[in-house]
Amino acid sequence: MGRCRDVPTKLRKPWPTKDFLAKFRRSTPWPLGGYLAVVSISALVGVTAGWTAFAARIDNYAYDFFSSPAQPTSQSAVLAIDEETLKRFGGMRYIRTILARALDLLAPVEPRAVAVDVILADEGDTIENARLEEAMSRTRGLVLPCDTVRAGWEDPLPRFRRYASAFGHIHADEDSSDGVIRKIQLEMVAHDDRRWALGLVAYQCFRGRPPILESPDDIEVAGRRIPAARAGDNRPMRIRFPGPENSLTVADLDRDPAKAVVFRDKAVFLGITALTAARDRWTTPLKLSIPGVEVHRNVFDTIARGEFLTPVPDLTVLCACLAIAIAAAAIFWFRGDWIAYFLGGLLLVASHSIPAMLFRNGIVFPYFASVSAAWLPVVSAATYRYFVVRKALGKSESDRARYRQAIHFVTHEMKTPLTAIQGSSELMGRYALSEDKRKQMAQMINSESKRLARMIQTFLDVERLSAGQMELKQEHFAVREVVTSCVDRARIIAERKQIVIHEGALDADVLTGDRELMEYAVYNLLTNAVKYSPAETEVWVAAEHSAGQVRISVRDQGIGLDEKEIRNVFKKFYRTKKAEASGEAGTGIGLSIVEQIVTEHGGRMEVTSQPGRGSTFTMILPVSADAAVDAVPA
Ligand code: ADP
Repeated sequence: MGRCRDVPTKLRKPWPTKDFLAKFRRSTPWPLGGYLAVVSISALVGVTAGWTAFAARIDNYAYDFFSSPAQPTSQSAVLAIDEETLKRFGGMRYIRTILARALDLLAPVEPRAVAVDVILADEGDTIENARLEEAMSRTRGLVLPCDTVRAGWEDPLPRFRRYASAFGHIHADEDSSDGVIRKIQLEMVAHDDRRWALGLVAYQCFRGRPPILESPDDIEVAGRRIPAARAGDNRPMRIRFPGPENSLTVADLDRDPAKAVVFRDKAVFLGITALTAARDRWTTPLKLSIPGVEVHRNVFDTIARGEFLTPVPDLTVLCACLAIAIAAAAIFWFRGDWIAYFLGGLLLVASHSIPAMLFRNGIVFPYFASVSAAWLPVVSAATYRYFVVRKALGKSESDRARYRQAIHFVTHEMKTPLTAIQGSSELMGRYALSEDKRKQMAQMINSESKRLARMIQTFLDVERLSAGQMELKQEHFAVREVVTSCVDRARIIAERKQIVIHEGALDADVLTGDRELMEYAVYNLLTNAVKYSPAETEVWVAAEHSAGQVRISVRDQGIGLDEKEIRNVFKKFYRTKKAEASGEAGTGIGLSIVEQIVTEHGGRMEVTSQPGRGSTFTMILPVSADAAVDAVPA
């Protein structure tokens, strides 16, 4: 029996583990949701932009730029009807005579296919027609052209058609908006009648007329697989063009028929190249202007060479673009230093160069989609990272400054009891004082040092509470006592501004928690009420029982707060503009501490206020059910 290698289920930790998540969160102190949203939107825009007409145009320019001349093949040749040929035979009127002469000159060398790029649809001259028919009858592998017209296909006259081995359309790609020819439709349908392209049919005849096998993704002729996927009624195939080439002309052959030997066993493309007569001239991606007959010969050569430009399927492009966007997002998520910018730069360089490299290897990857799918996410991820980190840095800077201010304020507060202690002890040491005076001073030193100790303790407690290091004391105390003791202390400051503090209903509720911290909180609300109220106003304090809770409220007639200020008032170091302008010293941490104390005691804060009319701050705390009032010492 084999040993069981399975880890028991309860020992296996689910992934991502809590440790991993905690570390992950610590390493990225900014919101994942916002980042993902920004990067995903930019990736989406980048990827969809790759499928627009504008992108198609940029792709075309880019592919033209990447194009290099194709190697010429020795399997085909153009026999050109140029200006000189036209002049020699009497012009375009005698085109049939010219064609007949050309076919006669080719007949002795027996080319394997002769594709004629002149449609011969008009009636013409009887003698000329008869001559051409005779020449055609002697031609092996004759391919005649046709083109789409409104009524369907425009074909050669039936008298010529009977000599043709096959027909091929000479329709050039109409998608081309800039006069540059890049593709040919290998298959075209007009009025339910389908025709193959002249170059393809010439190749078929050249290879002994095997059948053309087709599938939705490609077609096959004599074992040659052509990657031309069907798109609607068409099958586009990218043509690979050679550099500048010289062709023999009919006039050349007429002068020296022996030259025809170069056409032996080839596929010959016979057509008009004269600038004055050629109806169709095209610019190749290599910026050469060529007549239609050469385009068809280049279609043949592209097939004969078998070096195709194969487009990458849309789904693959989509996945690759998404992978680029994910890479960009990951780079700037995990790193924020120069390495991220370096890697981002590499990604951009790759997005530009990979389509170029693929194109040179015969694979057509959309250039614009690749570039936009990289640029937009890289730029947005880098910008997001830069601004969010900068904002976080700015916030921590200002937090630190305010914290320093708070420390300064606290130390300043400590100076008062310290000065009293120092002064009294000096007096006692230097002068012989009466017993009464000595007692009074000793008492003062005692009470001031206790106050100092309390201040330090509260400050430390609050700090430790904020850092989550302290457990609350769990003592029972009466709310009423906490409130009255705070009111007594606050009255001393209130009197300086002739502010009267009224005690309202003070119910006999008992709280469980830390009495000292609770005093700190109530006292803070009271001193704030006094600080942020004009002189000769009134402050009300109450502690009322309501449904298992006690509501300790402090109401004033002071400067008040607007909606936005109410939302921010519990944030650490937040001070309103009115408070700053009032000239009252403050640090903006008091209320944040109050809220924390109340929360730690299982309660919450409530604020109602109107600017210029006053505010009410209420602490809502749960009352301890298990403690009786009389259990609390008086
Ligand atoms: P401090 O009073 O030291 O500035 P606090 O945290 O206690 O800090 O208060 C934060 C801010 O809330 C104050 O600066 C002031 O702008 C505002 N505030 C607090 N209490 C009141 C009040 N009773 N009336 C108007 N504004 C107040």
